Amino acid sequence: MDFGISEKMQAVLGMINEFVDRELIPLEREFLVNEFRDMLPVLEQKRAMVKKMELWGPNHPTELGGMGLSMLEHGLVSEALGRSPLGHYVFGCQAPDAGNIEILHQHGTEEQKDAYLAPLAAGKIRSCFAMTEVDMPGSNPVMMDTTAVKDGDDYVINGHKWYTTGADGATFAIAMAITDPEAPVYLRASMIIVPTDTPGYNLVRNIPVMGHSGSDYASHGEVLFQSCRVPRKNLLGKEGMGFVIAQDRLGPGRIHHCMRWLGICSRAFDLMCRRANERPIAPNGKTLATRQIVQEWVADSAAEIQAARLMTLYAAWRMDTAGHKEARDDVSMIKYVVANTMQRVVDRALQVHGGLGMTDDTVLAYFFRHERAARIYDGADEVHKTSFAKRCLARYAG
Ligand SMILES: Cc1cc2nc3c(=O)[nH]c(=O)nc-3n(C[C@H](O)[C@H](O)[C@H](O)COP(=O)(O)OP(=O)(O)OC[C@H]3O[C@@H](n4cnc5c(N)ncnc54)[C@H](O)[C@@H]3O)c2cc1C
Repeated sequence: MDFGISEKMQAVLGMINEFVDRELIPLEREFLVNEFRDMLPVLEQKRAMVKKMELWGPNHPTELGGMGLSMLEHGLVSEALGRSPLGHYVFGCQAPDAGNIEILHQHGTEEQKDAYLAPLAAGKIRSCFAMTEVDMPGSNPVMMDTTAVKDGDDYVINGHKWYTTGADGATFAIAMAITDPEAPVYLRASMIIVPTDTPGYNLVRNIPVMGHSGSDYASHGEVLFQSCRVPRKNLLGKEGMGFVIAQDRLGPGRIHHCMRWLGICSRAFDLMCRRANERPIAPNGKTLATRQIVQEWVADSAAEIQAARLMTLYAAWRMDTAGHKEARDDVSMIKYVVANTMQRVVDRALQVHGGLGMTDDTVLAYFFRHERAARIYDGADEVHKTSFAKRCLARYAG
């Protein structure tokens, strides 16, 4: 098995790592204590630099001005970008836009591509994805209350969504709604493009999450659809294909997330090791690094990161070579393995920093509170474990 990285990718990763270190990490102090909205002018400058370096949209198709990288290649890029909370946004591959770009590219009409996909891929507008509902279990989204009823040439949408990431400032939402309640469960829902200035589309609030409401891209919206009327031509793909398209979106999205989390692991690990070497712990000049328990955290973290990373790269390679369906078990496994690895590594790094770790003077507290959600979104740990285990056990049955 060849674990080598092509020369082209080594060059790309070198440029990205340097950019993250030189241009993004120094912005973090400001980012951690300000509204995301206030950072937009400086981030726009950084985006222009990325475009000039021809590193914009690493996973977008080349015809959309992206780099057209494979899943495995984008995984490596995502890891490099994940070292800073600003990385994905500045390179134009942030969730949920990256997923929306994929599904618009695969399923959009020419008119939808011109109106929504082209400006989205160019970073001129942002979008959001509204599937999860306040009163229904997101873990089982076939239980959905939101409806889109045909009325003449329109759909009329009613429903109550939340955790619509980046709804604040988005130009359009892709909303999941039941279009045929009588159809078999997996064919009941459809995806519909809703411009956010449509009457009846109401952003109720940015939900406070772990003590922070956030703004713009760094926010999670509660959205109420009240007799929200959009033309039927805003249907994305075929009617009833909402869950099928959602699956197309989720597989690659999980790989991207896992690689981003590995970038977070790598950053937390660096911070932990540096602090352990620098922090005196006794009058004789000994540092934290001389303590066996810290050495154990370093050893465990390095091994766990390595294991999680190899699993993720393997899953990405399976997706590139065998396809989404064949890679399903690999993707389920990395989703809970990497999320938990990240949580442990960030927790140890924070512990090594003591009181400093709890402040926003380092990025660790941000990672600790912000990334706890990794074990919940895109399928909670328990959902992935049970669905993988069921498939696995079925192979042993009879
Ligand atoms: C930061 C963040 C960003 C998000 N962004 C978006 C977005 O942009 N768009 C969007 O539509 N949604 C988004 N979500 C919503 C996310 O997809 C849901 O929160 C997730 O699917 C879980 O659904 P739920 O919150 O309704 O939890 P529930 O479905 O109520 O589940 C609660 C808990 O029950 C347990 N559980 C559930 N099912 C099972 C099972 N079968 N077996 C065992 N235990 C189980 C799990 O521990 C789970 O955490 C986001 C969520 C977060 C936290």
